[in-house]
Amino acid sequence: MKLGMSLPQSDAELNTDTCDPFNNAELTLKLGFRQVNPAAGAAEGTYHDYGRATAPNRKIVKWTVGSWNLWRKNFVDTAARFWNGKFWLSNNFPVYEIEKNGIKYRPNIWCLFKIEDRDIALGGHHHVIDVVRLHKSETWFGSHSKLYDSLDTNSVQKDTDSKGKAIMQRAHVHEVGHLLGLGHVDIGKAHCPPGGDTNASNCYGVADVDKYSVMGQGMQLRLSHAMPWRKAMVALSGKGNALTATDWEAKTQRIYPRIPAEVASNAMLTHRPLRK
Ligand SMILES: [Zn+2]
Repeated sequence: MKLGMSLPQSDAELNTDTCDPFNNAELTLKLGFRQVNPAAGAAEGTYHDYGRATAPNRKIVKWTVGSWNLWRKNFVDTAARFWNGKFWLSNNFPVYEIEKNGIKYRPNIWCLFKIEDRDIALGGHHHVIDVVRLHKSETWFGSHSKLYDSLDTNSVQKDTDSKGKAIMQRAHVHEVGHLLGLGHVDIGKAHCPPGGDTNASNCYGVADVDKYSVMGQGMQLRLSHAMPWRKAMVALSGKGNALTATDWEAKTQRIYPRIPAEVASNAMLTHRPLRK
């Protein structure tokens, strides 16, 4: 079974065809991206910072097949690989069970992420990032989480830690986190109240451990970053609507499908079990 759904933050697809005694269901969250080109097929043109008509204009050039493929490869190789396949969700509900040789197996959920070309003409307007190709005379463009420029995949120094070491980040990997629904690392702490400006510098982390988070100023993945997949499973399955700590609980290592006795003892199978 393949079950697709458009969620507020992304498109989601749950695939249970992959399930067997050793393999889990796969949940893919999907975003698209597409070219922004100069108007009327021109080789060069302009585009406003942030896509806002009142903001300054920058010179842009038409994407070529080669430049687009290079940008796309760079983008997919970093953003998608950062987020893809990093979490497994423990299935604590009697759903998606399969039976083989008279034994029931309950699959867990492997969290996948895919970012794909989406042509406007083909539809699929949901959850799309627009990308402009800057003219070589431009060194900066006002981008945001849904509008990127051709320089946005570079790794830049964001800050230093308490020992003076540089903290590096590739901005688009952080922005994809936002697109998936994740907020800045310190939101909810006293120095970054949820009702205040959650883009204030304190929200990007004060302690080193938080600064290094991808939702701070660094490139580290945290267990809390599985929340978009956990919420998607609530939406797709209708189970765990209150989303307690154990509903679709995230793990950063593979956990194998369980038989009823293992479910009853709440075992987490991190090593390949012996099966008939
Ligand atoms: Zn941010």
